[in-house]
Amino acid sequence: MALRNKLSKNQKIVPRGLKVMLPHGGLPEVISPYLIDLIEKTGGKNGPIGKQFVAQPEKEKKYYSKNFLDPLCEDENEVVPGIVYKYRGKIKKNGKVEYYGRVLWITTRFCGSYCRFCTRGREIGMPQNFKTETRSALTKKPLLTNQEIEKVFKFLKKRKEINEVILSGGDPLVSPKDYLTKIVNGLVKLQKSGDLDIIRIGTRLPIHNPSVVKRWHYELLGKIRNPFLMVHINHPAELTDSVLKVINNFKEISGASVFSQTVLLKGVNDSVETLYELFVKMTKEGIRPYYLYQNDPVYWAKHFTVPIKKAIKMWQKLRPRLSGVAATARFVIDTPSGAGKVPIPEGGAWNVDYSAFYDFQKKKHNL
Ligand code: SF4
Repeated sequence: MALRNKLSKNQKIVPRGLKVMLPHGGLPEVISPYLIDLIEKTGGKNGPIGKQFVAQPEKEKKYYSKNFLDPLCEDENEVVPGIVYKYRGKIKKNGKVEYYGRVLWITTRFCGSYCRFCTRGREIGMPQNFKTETRSALTKKPLLTNQEIEKVFKFLKKRKEINEVILSGGDPLVSPKDYLTKIVNGLVKLQKSGDLDIIRIGTRLPIHNPSVVKRWHYELLGKIRNPFLMVHINHPAELTDSVLKVINNFKEISGASVFSQTVLLKGVNDSVETLYELFVKMTKEGIRPYYLYQNDPVYWAKHFTVPIKKAIKMWQKLRPRLSGVAATARFVIDTPSGAGKVPIPEGGAWNVDYSAFYDFQKKKHNL
C-alpha cells in the first residue's frame, strides 16, 4: 500500500506509514483498505476498530523507555534464530522425557496491518535494515535465511523434550508462499517422524485483510496433522461475513481447530457487554474462546491498559453469564519477567484478595 502522510480533505483515514513510527523505530501506521472501510463504518478513528489501528503519536511516545521494549524477555530467550524457548521441557537422567516443552517461532516481523498495542512493537513493521535497539534474529531483516531455517529444524530434531511449535511473528500468514511452505513442510516432516506433536499458527490476517488469504494458505495448513489456528480477535465488529468465510475455510479445507486470542483494551472492549457479545459470537461461529490477555506493559500501549482490579471485576461478572461452551477462555497476565501466563482465578467462588500473584518461577508480583 502507498504510504501517505496526511489526512485527506474528506477526513477519511489515510495511513501515515513510517511518519508515525515509535521512537525506537517500530509499528508504522499501515492499515489495509479493508480495515479502513470497517473503521469508517464503526465510528472512525475513535471507534473500537479505529482505536486499534490509527496511531496516536503523543500517547504512544509519552512513556518512551528502553526498559519496556521487551517486557516478556523474548529476546534473551531466543535460542536459535526466531525460536523463543521459555516453556521448557525436561529430560530425565536416563534420557527419557519427563515433560515436554514448547517453542514460539517468530518467522517474520510483518503483519497485514499494525495493531498499536502490539507486544512485539520493538521489531514489528520495521523497514529493511532499520537500526534497532533489540537483538533478535529478525530485527535487521524481515525474514529468516535458508541457513537459519535449517538451523531451527536441526535444533527441533535434536531437542527431544520439545513437542510443540507455535508459529508467530508478525504474522506467519503474510510471508511469501515459498518461505512459509518451506517452514510448514519442515514442521510436517518433524510431525510425521514423531519429533513434533502439536503445531499452532498464530494469525490476525483474517481480521486485517480477509481477501489476501488464498487457497494456498488453506491447502498448506491442511498438510499439518490437526492444525491449531489461533486468531487474534478483539471486538465483535471484527467478525464480518468475509472474516467468517475465511475462518470457515480454515476449518473445512485445512481441517483446523480455530481458537481465539483477545487482548483487553481500554476504549475498545473493556465492558462486560462487549466481551459478552464477542465470546457468544465467536462460540456461535465455531471459534473456541481461548485467552483473554491483560495488555502487556509495553510503553507505547499504556493508554490501552485497563487497571487490573477493574479488569478482574469485569471478568468475575462476565464468566457466570457465559454458557459453559463460551466460557472456555482463561483471563491471563503474561508475567513481565517472562515467566509465563498466570490465569486470574474465576468467578468469586473462592476467597481471593487479588493483592498479588506468583509466576511459574514462584516469584511474587504485587498488584
Ligand atoms: S497482528 Fe499481532 S504481531 Fe501483528 S501488529 Fe497485531 S499484535 Fe502485533
